[in-house]
Amino acid sequence: MTQISTTNRTRPVRTRIAPSPTGFPHVGTAYIALFNLAFAKAHGGEFILRIEDTDQTRSTEQSEKMILDALRWVGLDWAEGPDIGGPHAPYRQSERSNIYKKHAEQLIENDHAFRCFCSSEELDAMRAEQMANGETPRYDGRCAHLAPEKTEQLIAEGKPHVIRMRVPTEGNCQVHDMLRGTVEIPWTQVDMQVLLKTDGMPTYHLANVVDDHLMDISHVMRGEEWLNSAPKHQLLYEYFGWEMPVLCHMPLLRNPDKSKLSKRKNPTSITYYRDAGVLPEALLNYLGRMGYSMPDEAEQFTLDEMIASFDIQRVSLGGPIFDIEKLNWLNAEWLRELTPEQLKNKILDWASDSDKLTAIAAAIQPRIELLSDAVNWSGFYFQNLPDINAESFTHKSLAPEQIIEMLQLALWQLETLPTWSEENIYATLKGLAAHLDIKMRDFMAPFFIAIAGSTSSTPVMNSMAIIGADMTLTRLRHAVDVLGGLGKKKLKKLEKQAATLPDFLATE
Ligand code: GLU
Repeated sequence: MTQISTTNRTRPVRTRIAPSPTGFPHVGTAYIALFNLAFAKAHGGEFILRIEDTDQTRSTEQSEKMILDALRWVGLDWAEGPDIGGPHAPYRQSERSNIYKKHAEQLIENDHAFRCFCSSEELDAMRAEQMANGETPRYDGRCAHLAPEKTEQLIAEGKPHVIRMRVPTEGNCQVHDMLRGTVEIPWTQVDMQVLLKTDGMPTYHLANVVDDHLMDISHVMRGEEWLNSAPKHQLLYEYFGWEMPVLCHMPLLRNPDKSKLSKRKNPTSITYYRDAGVLPEALLNYLGRMGYSMPDEAEQFTLDEMIASFDIQRVSLGGPIFDIEKLNWLNAEWLRELTPEQLKNKILDWASDSDKLTAIAAAIQPRIELLSDAVNWSGFYFQNLPDINAESFTHKSLAPEQIIEMLQLALWQLETLPTWSEENIYATLKGLAAHLDIKMRDFMAPFFIAIAGSTSSTPVMNSMAIIGADMTLTRLRHAVDVLGGLGKKKLKKLEKQAATLPDFLATE
């Protein structure tokens, strides 16, 4: 195994992807995972997967499963993880709370952290005052020097508290990054971070550092949005007396207009690309070109080829543009290389999800006379975006403006469904129609157009359940675009309206 020299000793290369299971599987996660895997493999090391689910209110099992399935589908395999175990198990942070608690206590004993009894009202008031004075809101350290007796007394009274880390008040922190060299961040910009919350659960920062150490991670490669957290992490390593992994902050993926990749402008879920018919090898190839070029400038390459010549220094920091048209072009290159027999197998593989086919069969059964009728009735289930334009939405009682607004409101509501099911979709759309005082029949027509391209189709909420959240949401976004989209002003107004909507799942 190649030994990579790090700060003060050589250690086997171990990298990780550490997704938080709080939503759909994002292409950015696959991108970061790819570079972690390529780096580890290029140095004869290991790549592992850890689930960071310390945010218990937002983490879901469904999301964890989708992320694992999506990463595996795209061809990124991990050597250790929550599904396969390994020498550092458990790999799910929610199962490791005792470990973090013990480490937080250790920091208190060594006076690197302190107990903070401030209530959320106190903290809000403090921030409001700081902002009124034109200061950056941050914790002002009011509990940092409580007398030990006072702390004892408050604990005895059962007053809830968090544990915060101590942070220097002056000077700069120097962070070393493989791509960026030395980055200086003033300590005044670093907050006295909460490490352990009132419920005894760790925050990302504590759990991440403790786990990277205990799991023997040699290189932390992650998105650049984490660069500002690096001083806290570095300080924690120092407090614990541990060797710091080498840091590498990768550039963020961007929309063609250079803004941060967002689902408003581009589908961002791996599942969507799978369902639209992108080959996993083509998606991986495309992600491998994000800010990276092969030494021979090849456009089309396999994961093995990428690993064979991998050099992290070839990553360029300019924000890589994730452009669907280029991805589709590359996918076509991959498709054209196949023999007809191989292509047939790929198509069959892609379309042969048995549960989905059974659900489609059930939906079209009352409508077909001949098996051949299945082609017309079921085509849209497999389509990417339906072939529609603004006229397709012409409605006898709803104006186009109104249609855009209701589609957008529905979109936001559906995005937050905890579980994607026909019941939840129904409760949401029925609730929204009633709230907007639109007859259900009128309300649903634009959804038929957006999802199936026609109003004479199988029941649309059932179709939405079958094609899945990512494809449904992408088609709804497409419908809003086709109708001319929402200007900034209208969007703001609608966002305000959305914020006042009741919880339709609860009122059902
Ligand atoms: N859980 C973090 C995330 O979801 C991991 C960040 C890191 O790699 O340190 O992005």
